[in-house]
Amino acid sequence: MKTFVYIDHFKGEAQPASWEALGLAKSLGAATALVFGSNVDEVVKAAFEYGADEVLLAEDSALLDYRAETYASTLSALASSLSPDLILFPTTTRTREFAAMAAVDLNSNVITDATAVEVNGESILVTRPIYEAKLFEKVTASGKPQLITLRGRAFPKPEQQEGKTGTITKVDAKTDALTSVEGYNVAEVGVSLNDAGIIVSGGRGVSNNPSLQPPAGLDDKQAEIWKAQQGFKLVGELASVLGGAVGASRAAVDAGYIPYSNQVGQTGKVVAPDLYIAAGISGAIQHLAGIRSAKMVVAINKDADAPIFKVARYGVVGDLFVIVPALTEAFKKKLGK
Ligand SMILES: Cc1cc2nc3c(=O)[nH]c(=O)nc-3n(C[C@H](O)[C@H](O)[C@H](O)COP(=O)(O)OP(=O)(O)OC[C@H]3O[C@@H](n4cnc5c(N)ncnc54)[C@H](O)[C@@H]3O)c2cc1C
Repeated sequence: MKTFVYIDHFKGEAQPASWEALGLAKSLGAATALVFGSNVDEVVKAAFEYGADEVLLAEDSALLDYRAETYASTLSALASSLSPDLILFPTTTRTREFAAMAAVDLNSNVITDATAVEVNGESILVTRPIYEAKLFEKVTASGKPQLITLRGRAFPKPEQQEGKTGTITKVDAKTDALTSVEGYNVAEVGVSLNDAGIIVSGGRGVSNNPSLQPPAGLDDKQAEIWKAQQGFKLVGELASVLGGAVGASRAAVDAGYIPYSNQVGQTGKVVAPDLYIAAGISGAIQHLAGIRSAKMVVAINKDADAPIFKVARYGVVGDLFVIVPALTEAFKKKLGK
């Protein structure tokens, strides 16, 4: 099976799920990594160290910033001339977009968010979540090349082999595009939710601490946001001690407590950490849709009947403003921080 793996990166920092895709490709035979961008030497180096036998490198200043048009045309031109059987991607916002565009160019199809891929001769069987991950379906992929995006943390990450190298083949970049990037703000900082092994999330409950006195001069909405920010500070401290990422419910992001990039759930990020701590989150079905692959859920909520306790392995009925800092202190001691 001739497999290409697209290495997704932002400004030269690769998404770790790309290495999981390389690991899968290696288990199927030889793995060719695709690296697009400019100043991407480190990405190329890491691709070899995580198992790529060859790197096809499209390096051009026009590819410095991701744009669906240039990336999709570069990929489809490559795939048309080299005819891979399979192209794997980590599932990210970028790859969801440009894999679909490339599939249209290639008159093929794309299966997103796969959690398992089995290859039997010519046939490729893909498992993916449906109905907000309540069910998993198996689909037989047809079409060549088959494009599949893989859910982060669903496949094992290979060991990094320091110093391993391979063949770099330079390929043409397709640089015609109708749009240009003039600038952007990077909203996500710290540990990325997609790759986090531990996530501590806050919900509407983070604004509910009647004993906090907001600074004078704030209106009701501003005072609520200020209170929530104190709550998220505690959530962030716990996440930081555990080396994890900060998540949030939609109610929290809609209320302006924290940016949308932190939202977990059906219309936010689907995450698969080993540990998910939900503080002041009720456990609405749309939130649970984003955490079904979490290995362990711990819930902290004042309301013993909150639905989040139904999916939690451990639950604490209590005030998050007491419990979260107590957990932070306990983990600090335990981890010697
Ligand atoms: C189409 C659609 C898509 C959606 N997508 C998403 C999504 O992607 N992600 C998402 O999260 N939601 C999503 N929602 C919204 C979802 O239905 C809920 O409204 C939302 O998840 C509720 O957020 P919450 O749990 O923070 O707030 P609430 O439901 O208000 O819960 C707050 C919780 O905090 C507890 N609490 C209050 N004070 C404290 C305290 N001091 N200590 C401890 N606990 C406390 C309360 O007991 C309560 O359980 C979507 C809704 C729709 C219709």
